[in-house]
Amino acid sequence: MQKISVAEARRLESVGREVVLQGWVRTRRDSKAGFSFLELNDGSSLGNVQVIVRGELPNYESQIKHLSPGCSVTVEGRIQASPGKGQSTEVVAQSVTVHGAADAESYPLQKKQHSFEFLRTIAHLRPRTNTFGAIARVRNCVSRSIHNFFQEEGFLYVHTPIITTSDCEGAGQMFRVTTLDPANPPRLDEEVDYTRDFFGRPTYLTVSGQLDVECFACAVGKVYTFGPTFRAENSNTSRHLAEFWMVEPEMAFFDLADTMELAERFLKRIVGDVLGQCAEDMQFFNQRIDDTVIATLEGIVQSQFVRLPYSEAIEILKSSDEKFEFPVAWGHDLQAEHERYLSERQFQRPVILFDYPRTIKPFYMRLNDDGRTVRAMDILVPKVGEIVGGSQREERYDVLLERMKEQDLDPEDYWWYLDLRRYGAVPHSGFGLGLERAVQFITGMANIRDVIPFPRTPGNAEF
Ligand code: ATP
Ligand code: MN
Repeated sequence: MQKISVAEARRLESVGREVVLQGWVRTRRDSKAGFSFLELNDGSSLGNVQVIVRGELPNYESQIKHLSPGCSVTVEGRIQASPGKGQSTEVVAQSVTVHGAADAESYPLQKKQHSFEFLRTIAHLRPRTNTFGAIARVRNCVSRSIHNFFQEEGFLYVHTPIITTSDCEGAGQMFRVTTLDPANPPRLDEEVDYTRDFFGRPTYLTVSGQLDVECFACAVGKVYTFGPTFRAENSNTSRHLAEFWMVEPEMAFFDLADTMELAERFLKRIVGDVLGQCAEDMQFFNQRIDDTVIATLEGIVQSQFVRLPYSEAIEILKSSDEKFEFPVAWGHDLQAEHERYLSERQFQRPVILFDYPRTIKPFYMRLNDDGRTVRAMDILVPKVGEIVGGSQREERYDVLLERMKEQDLDPEDYWWYLDLRRYGAVPHSGFGLGLERAVQFITGMANIRDVIPFPRTPGNAEF
């Protein structure tokens, strides 16, 4: 007998096969006629397969009649067409082996609807629920789609380091990496002496792989890095995590317009793949989480993203009737409420904002001829706001050096980054997409903590 997944067993083509299925019982229902129905799930699909267990099985009274949600079993049986509504197949068991019981009294996942807040406290068990199983499959689909897209476009996947000495955003919101004893660190003139730390200097967890991946773009052309990033920003919002995954493509000989075009095709590809490959899960999100989510995604695949200079966005926001909590003024960063207004209300599709004030953006973004703005672009989507942040990079040595000094960065620390501008400099650009923001947007989940397996946020690193 062949082991197959529940997803496969649910397909009509499987009728007539003798198979082995393994998974967890979602529910048990006993019929007066002396047999039982088990709903079996193994994570391969949202739907369960119904297993019919006849009373003649030797362990029927001793084990089957005690099965409760969460118990794990191996079922051997034959797949037949199901007369029941909402399912095309069912399995008639020839044997059921029980592996692990799950005490019905104490098992935290009861049949009732649990709040997402409660489920965060049992993050080790929540993947067994419909919602979190569906999120795991969508997240997997998005990750695969990211690799497929870039591989097909001829990009090289480059692995950039996690431990770093440079603060890419210049924001100083980094986690320190050290092996010094916090109770008794070596000191030099009152200060902690980091020359005696593991790396001989202060080191941190990376906030972005961009600076490193630029070295590869300026050597092999089109590259991307895709890995965990860390930000110690103390923002308790529904769209910030302290640890998240980011995909960062970086392209030599791309200007900002080329980069916007690539990012738009990239987002449409991811959304299209999820709609096509996770149709059952998306139906679920549309029914249970957000009843506009499929329509929004279908709209995205067909729409043309708006391209809007920051300065024009400020005018639109200023002249709108909306009462914003944060003031709108040229030179201020946009808040989530402003980003959402533009994509949700004003344009009802993704908006690519570009040419931001130099004062609110990092040193590496290319200065425009107006001297006030830089070649930055953010992609804003309904509900989530910013999903992508990118820019054309400053490739002119002197201008870059000035920008560093302006932002109080020590050029000595970035000597290798400056070298890229001294030897064979090229125009180049790139962007970063937060994987969780993407999954949050696609599934319609309200809180980013629910689209990563084990969220890390201020005060939370359990599991
Ligand atoms: P925001 O303004 O929303 O805090 P940012 O401008 O700091 O984001 P970037 O530095 O441009 O973000 O990072 C690129 C992308 O990484 C963002 O567009 C977003 O998708 C994602 N991202 C940034 N910070 C976080 C975070 N703390 N948690 C999850 N995703 C994030
Ligand atoms: Mn950004």
